[in-house]
Amino acid sequence: MDSQEKSYIEIDPARCKGCACCVVACPKDCIQIGSEINQMGYQFARFAVRQCIGCGLCFYTCPEFGAITVYTLPRKGE
Ligand code: SF4
Ligand code: SF4
Repeated sequence: MDSQEKSYIEIDPARCKGCACCVVACPKDCIQIGSEINQMGYQFARFAVRQCIGCGLCFYTCPEFGAITVYTLPRKGE
């Protein structure tokens, strides 16, 4: 298992305002804006392509605290 298989993100639809900053920031095109609408009336982002490398760029780019959580597991030997 390599690091690409071990990293992923979760997006909280309730906190997302659909700004798409994370979509632009992701170097692996993992994130898309879906067609569903949250309770604030925004089309929210979703983790759509599981090629995440755990870089954290989406997390650091997102203006909404807590909307994105990045999960990375330690590599073998760390
Ligand atoms: S951690 Fe990096 S690769 Fe993973 S979804 Fe966020 S920006 Fe994309
Ligand atoms: S950057 Fe944050 S608020 Fe903007 S679309 Fe992505 S998860 Fe939603």
